[in-house]
Amino acid sequence: MPFKDECGVFGVTELFEASRQTYLGLYALQHRGQEAAGICSRDGHGLHLHKAQGYVADIFSQPVLDSLPGDAAIGHTRYSTTGGNVASAAHPFLIHGRFGQVALCHNGNLTNTAALRDRLIAEGHTFTSPSDSEVILALINRADAGTVEDAVVEALKLCEGAFSLLILTQDALLAARDPHGFRPLAMGRLGEGFAFSSETCGFDLVGADYLREVEPGEVVIVKGREVQSRFPREKVVAKPCVFEHVYFARPDSNVFSRSVMGTRREMGRLLAQRHPVEADLIVPVPDSGVSAALGYAEASGIPFDFGMIRNHYVGRTFIEPKQSIRSFGVKVKLNPVRDLLNGKRVVLVDDSIVRGTTSRKIVEMVRAAGAKEVHMRISSPPTTHSCFYGIDTPSREQLIASSRDNEAIRAFIEADSLGYLTLEDLQAAVRDGQGGQGFCYACFTGEYAVAPEAKGVC
Ligand code: AMP
Repeated sequence: MPFKDECGVFGVTELFEASRQTYLGLYALQHRGQEAAGICSRDGHGLHLHKAQGYVADIFSQPVLDSLPGDAAIGHTRYSTTGGNVASAAHPFLIHGRFGQVALCHNGNLTNTAALRDRLIAEGHTFTSPSDSEVILALINRADAGTVEDAVVEALKLCEGAFSLLILTQDALLAARDPHGFRPLAMGRLGEGFAFSSETCGFDLVGADYLREVEPGEVVIVKGREVQSRFPREKVVAKPCVFEHVYFARPDSNVFSRSVMGTRREMGRLLAQRHPVEADLIVPVPDSGVSAALGYAEASGIPFDFGMIRNHYVGRTFIEPKQSIRSFGVKVKLNPVRDLLNGKRVVLVDDSIVRGTTSRKIVEMVRAAGAKEVHMRISSPPTTHSCFYGIDTPSREQLIASSRDNEAIRAFIEADSLGYLTLEDLQAAVRDGQGGQGFCYACFTGEYAVAPEAKGVC
């Protein structure tokens, strides 16, 4: 199975203390991946790399950042699921090849990795990890082109699927997005130089000014203070991932030129109009449901409150007592506020239901805290299909909405009622002016703009 990379990328060029700025950028993008992180910097002596498993704050100490000198750097924070959390899969990847040192970090999933990899292995290439990102570097290295910039353009012509890339060479920083622009990548101005970030919240921390999106299909090449733009492939209809707006991105970011907070609130308002219910309290499932719950409360006039509190210090693993506690995994993260919930008719708002198991435990928890009724409202349509472009979704059979209708899902999560946002409302909330053609909605419709890889899909 291929690695799934949700991930965040950040990079700067022509900037004093580039690795420190990149470290800050990654800090702001920590929500996009908590498994591993890395930074590669460049000074007059070459490229310098440090990457490890863990959180950004734990990996980069003062001495580590001192070992990453120079005025350009790229960094990555990685989310892995299938394939596991192995150190060899951390980004950036650095090679010493035909064009000297080249480092690359990647957000997204190629859909033709296996085919490219098999071909490269047959040609004698070797790989140190199962990552599709290493495949891109191998393609750059074997390109016919005479310059590394041309080699990147040539290599990207062969890559299918989703990629937002940052590439650092001995004298340039390149930022690229696949022709459909599945994953985000923004460009900003920072001092005399430039910054690139998966989300604009990365710019805010370092004080960069947002300039524009790296366009779908574009390769931006920054060499010194000069910026060039190339388009290796023919233009296709862009399909930015709507799930960035539904769940993945931070609400304080602008993604695909739209405020995430604004979009989520609008989803909540439309949800309230579509699925009204008589209730006493709107409660978000924190943090993913907060913005939509605010919109729901606004449109319905029902009071909003934090009826559940999230423990923000829970890592990815925790040790469960030997005598197991019912719903321990959810309880360690979320705790109900009994005084608020007791005796109330509660509307719980969340962004999505994937397997349904967490939602079921949350409903049970809210009821156990004294709620008289629990109505679940979801600010996106039923998730019926897996993502092959970089969002971590389980296989189709594990998606509860792939095989059950609304009533069956309601019964499973044991809610008094359940209402999802419609696809049309979602399209209205993201202001999809292209009649539903302006975003990728594959996880809700099964309409994939790029066919998933036949071999090794998960
Ligand atoms: P469940 O009820 O088990 O399907 O879990 C639903 C929860 O999973 C919701 O709170 C969502 O915000 C969250 N969720 C949705 N997509 C993802 C994802 N790709 N990774 C992690 N959590 C997610």
